[in-house]
Amino acid sequence: MTHNSKTISLAGTTYCKNYSNWHDILSSSITTADELAKYLPVKKQNIRKITEKFPMRINPYYLSLIKYVGDPVWKQSIPDMMEINLHSGMEDPLAEEAQSPVPNLIHRYPDRVLFMVSDQCAMYCRHCMRKRRLGTRFSVNNDTIKDGLAYIRWNKAIRDVLISGGDPLLLENEVLDNILLRLHAIDHVEIIRIHSRVPCTLPQRVTRELAGILKKYIPLYINIQFNLYDEITPEATKACSILADAGLPLGCQSVLLKGVNDTPAAMKKLVQGLLKIRVKPYYIHNADFVEGTCHFRTSVNKGLKIMQELYGHTSGLAVPHYMIDLPGGGGKVPLIPEYIVAVKNGNLMVKNYEGKIYKYPV
Ligand SMILES: *Cc1c(COP(=O)(O)O)cnc(C)c1O
Ligand code: SF4
Repeated sequence: MTHNSKTISLAGTTYCKNYSNWHDILSSSITTADELAKYLPVKKQNIRKITEKFPMRINPYYLSLIKYVGDPVWKQSIPDMMEINLHSGMEDPLAEEAQSPVPNLIHRYPDRVLFMVSDQCAMYCRHCMRKRRLGTRFSVNNDTIKDGLAYIRWNKAIRDVLISGGDPLLLENEVLDNILLRLHAIDHVEIIRIHSRVPCTLPQRVTRELAGILKKYIPLYINIQFNLYDEITPEATKACSILADAGLPLGCQSVLLKGVNDTPAAMKKLVQGLLKIRVKPYYIHNADFVEGTCHFRTSVNKGLKIMQELYGHTSGLAVPHYMIDLPGGGGKVPLIPEYIVAVKNGNLMVKNYEGKIYKYPV
């Protein structure tokens, strides 16, 4: 076994693959029920039924993080019958398609847009809020890129462009370089943000060469989706150091997922772990009401409880905002636990992080 091979032992099966670069890892992804059943104890006919509706892609790196059947890594990557059995949720609850002036671009807030420049992901997350688009029903091509850029150029109110997908970091270096170059050249675009799961799900993609390209377009922010402490591996740590060393501020947008990270202990470990690899926790998203993902949804009370166990209990720097995204395209709204318990004789009665009540004169 060499240092660049991965061995997975699960339920009596062993998966070993040699790879030397990210293209190899990605092209060894498992996409069919037959392949998956070789490595994991799953019911082939179930997987087949689910993947007819929602495609599967698990690359060997992410697969190697599974420790046991049904663990939090498994839940994010292995299809579950609940995806097709629950019959709840909407294809597009946030009305992204309605707020799309040109294909693959969502303009919800006046000063910023979300621009989808890639239709590929390093894996298909089972909880993806853009599940309607995964696989075949989504395509990015030269025309969609050209039209998106033209829209941004034309609308001078846009000062912040989030490039997303899919995953922008799955584009080839030259393609990404070219898109960033054209965006960066627009005078009113003050900052660019990249939304990516790649440093978490395919960290081998993050090379010094990639960082060298990104660096040319600062101020460029990178927001990564880490959902679990166990995703912070030596490989992910290395990917984040390469990006941080290149001067790119890193943030994290996690999704609150039932059975994955919906306890105060799991979240605290995650956010503290992120600071150690120079990633600032930015948002915890409540899972949206998206068809095929509703089994991941938690109650808002649970989310608030988690926030309560973060504020004051750990570094303020580690505490993200807890966000809900309003149906119909209303946008994101932060939810904050209630700390003011009463107003008495002109004083605020305020609960601190330990639950003790203090009087605050106003
Ligand atoms: C989340 C989101 C943004 C960016 O929101 P921030 O709160 O600024 O991070 C922009 N456009 C769309 C459509 C979004 O969903
Ligand atoms: S990487 Fe992002 S866009 Fe792709 S499947 Fe996962 S959550 Fe969805």
